[in-house]
Amino acid sequence: MTLLNEFREWQDKLLALQQEGEKLYTQIEELERQNAELRQRLANGDAGGGFDALTSLYEEGFHVCPESFGQSREDECIFCLNFLLHKGKK
Ligand SMILES: [Zn+2]
Repeated sequence: MTLLNEFREWQDKLLALQQEGEKLYTQIEELERQNAELRQRLANGDAGGGFDALTSLYEEGFHVCPESFGQSREDECIFCLNFLLHKGKK
């Protein structure tokens, strides 16, 4: 392999790494945004709303189960549903 070819190969790798880094950065930004939103709600006293707050949090697409609390969910979560069901039976 010539030195120039080797250089180009490294350049490609660097570019791929940079793109990967940008993707990660975007994901981190999104997670931080969600995190800030959740913290804001807790600070606003939504936590005092108890069961209703958890239910609406779930409906807005977040986990409320202890396993993945606060993470965004795409499908129905059996743990969340189970959790809400038992909390509702006070
Ligand atoms: Zn869940």
